[in-house]
Amino acid sequence: HADIAMYRGKQTGRNNFQFYTPAMNEQALERLRIEGDLRSALDNGEFLLHYQPKVDLASGEVVGCEALIRWQHPQLGMVSPARFIGLAEETGLILPIGAWVLRTACTQCRQWQLAGHEDISVSVNLSVGQFLQKDLVSSIADALEDTGLPPASLELELTESLMMTDVEHAIGILAGLKELGVRLSIDDFGTGYSSLAYLKRFPIDVLKIDRSFVRDITIDADDAAITASIISLARHLKLRVIAEGVETDEQLDYLRHYGCDEIQGYLFSPPVPAEKFEQILKQERVSI
Ligand code: C2E
Ligand code: MG
Ligand code: MG
Ligand code: MG
Repeated sequence: HADIAMYRGKQTGRNNFQFYTPAMNEQALERLRIEGDLRSALDNGEFLLHYQPKVDLASGEVVGCEALIRWQHPQLGMVSPARFIGLAEETGLILPIGAWVLRTACTQCRQWQLAGHEDISVSVNLSVGQFLQKDLVSSIADALEDTGLPPASLELELTESLMMTDVEHAIGILAGLKELGVRLSIDDFGTGYSSLAYLKRFPIDVLKIDRSFVRDITIDADDAAITASIISLARHLKLRVIAEGVETDEQLDYLRHYGCDEIQGYLFSPPVPAEKFEQILKQERVSI
């Protein structure tokens, strides 16, 4: 009985005083370790990109992909970006990492184009730190020039909060990026803090409907209404619209019915290594 009481006491303690638990220490230690390892990960070649296909619903063709970073940690195995992008932001490491992502994605996309998939484009996620970087526009221009990727084949995915941190500054940067000829997309659209009025002022090409709305469109009337409204908004503003996180045929039917242009999600394919994406490109047409 004494054992059981002690065990219960520990359990309760764990719930009430989170700061002092071994679990918290482990978390803090893991964080420190990841932070330390993150510094050398780039030099050690531990990052790689996976590519998730984007399917055009009108043609049924793969028209491009989103580049998503992965970290192959020597001991921890594959670490997801959710576990290190925030830390990379806080430490400033996002700048060299982001530059690597951009160059790698541009180089890879150009290779696919030269291999006969001329119309393939690639999307790259930009973080706040990168967006506020002084030489962002010129560094993107350099990456395009050095890799030979046509600017129209590069899409930058930006979040609402990223653009809203300093609206006037953002408008200037976006104008500079548009001048280069790259495409601009609002990622996770509908989840951030922004105003519809800015949609008019931001020179955006694509709205990307957040996965959290798409997930429940067939069971939650509100999510269904929000998704249909975003598609309608995009059409009226003459923007392209893509849904992320599409996992089921029912979701696909709904999106198609309301006129969504493209989809991305596990239903068609998860993010895959470059070689696998090239195999997907070689398929004549997709079964969607
Ligand atoms: P995101 O840009 O919104 O990327 C979409 C995320 O949804 C990816 O997670 C993708 O694997 C996941 N996903 C795609 N389809 C499905 C689906 O059908 N079901 C479910 N459950 N998930 C799906 P991932 O790769 O773990 O990336 C998470 C986030 O990390 C990204 O969200 C993005 O914000 C950030 N991230 C990833 N790579 C980079 C990068 O190179 N640079 C920066 N700055 N951020 C990145
Ligand atoms: Mg994205
Ligand atoms: Mg999302
Ligand atoms: Mg997204």
